[in-house]
Amino acid sequence: MSFLDDLPFLSPDPLLSVAQQAERDHRIGKLDLTIGVYKDRSGQTPIFKSVKSAESSLVQNEITKSYLSTEGVPTFCNAIADLILSPHDVTCNRLATVQTLGGTGALSLAGRFLSDNFPESVIWIGTPTWSNHVAVMRQCDLNVQTYARSLPTGGRNFAALMDVLTHKARRGDIILLQPICHNPTGDDWSKAEWDEITVQIVKAGLLPLVDIAYHGLGQDLASDLTRLHTLVEQTDVTLVCYSCSKNFGLYRDRVGALLVAGQSNVQPQALQSQLAAIARTNYSMPPAHGALTVGHILTTPVLRQQWENEVESMQAHLHTVRTQLAAHKQIGPCNVQTIATGRGMFCMLPLPPTIIMLLRNEYSIYMADNGRINLAALNENNLLQFVALIDRVWA
Ligand code: PMP
Repeated sequence: MSFLDDLPFLSPDPLLSVAQQAERDHRIGKLDLTIGVYKDRSGQTPIFKSVKSAESSLVQNEITKSYLSTEGVPTFCNAIADLILSPHDVTCNRLATVQTLGGTGALSLAGRFLSDNFPESVIWIGTPTWSNHVAVMRQCDLNVQTYARSLPTGGRNFAALMDVLTHKARRGDIILLQPICHNPTGDDWSKAEWDEITVQIVKAGLLPLVDIAYHGLGQDLASDLTRLHTLVEQTDVTLVCYSCSKNFGLYRDRVGALLVAGQSNVQPQALQSQLAAIARTNYSMPPAHGALTVGHILTTPVLRQQWENEVESMQAHLHTVRTQLAAHKQIGPCNVQTIATGRGMFCMLPLPPTIIMLLRNEYSIYMADNGRINLAALNENNLLQFVALIDRVWA
């Protein structure tokens, strides 16, 4: 009998399991629409040219591999704050920035900070959402309450969110929001809805936790930030979790940031020290490579321009796929209009589980269990066949 004999087996993340199943499938015509990894028009997930250039310059010039500080690379933290906050907020209202292990690390650091300091607060999460949100917040010992973000007929459920903000949430509760490129629906709150959301958050005295993992892939780098700016300008404090996985293609290098911004007169040093203390006991110091790369790109005008062009081309590809899908009057049971007006890398196809399994097992078409598809994996070589197949299995 050993210590470990009675360990229960924990089921793997369902999305990662399907992605692994897809990887093991070598049948011709396989289409993997599962994981949110960008693919270009030729089906590749390339390294950005701007990243390659920055990396070679870093490798040539680096002189040490000594530890970073717990908060990470200062040029990276400052450059990310400059990138995503408005000039006014950067100078007046940035309270703290910490480099994190991707967007997940930012969420986890934010979650731990919130649970340590506001143990009585509930965190409200609209579902469907990114498959890891609820688990990360529970792991941080936060009390998670969910509400239906989507209507049973599809489309976003603004009334349900308003009900939370005006009736259910108590002062001091936390609300997790994705301002752009909603994962998994692609169906973002409109500007008018967002303005109302912001007003109610302020009225109810709630703490917004904002998750931005697809900056630049919605409309463009500037427009994708307007909702964030509205929130930061009007709320006391906004926590922002930012991922560089998609928009720098640095998935495996784990680059992200947690920013705390707002109008509060809380002591920035105290806040920074709290975040640093959590990081210190978790992983001590973050890795350098990805953050140095991003910092270098954002502060070198030629590379920055090249990066902006690369993000623009990703956004254009996603937009083309949406337009091409929407050119079909009907795709199985799907409302193509929602696909057309959606933003970012995903949309959800309202297919029953039996059809999703049939597509997987018989046709090597892999999508998430909830019908979410990665639009970037569609291109002119596979889009028509995909639409025809959905129509066929649905008929
Ligand atoms: N938030 C959302 C909405 C996401 O979709 C993802 C990743 N797919 C993350 C956070 C985590 O990002 P990262 O891979 O940088 O940890």
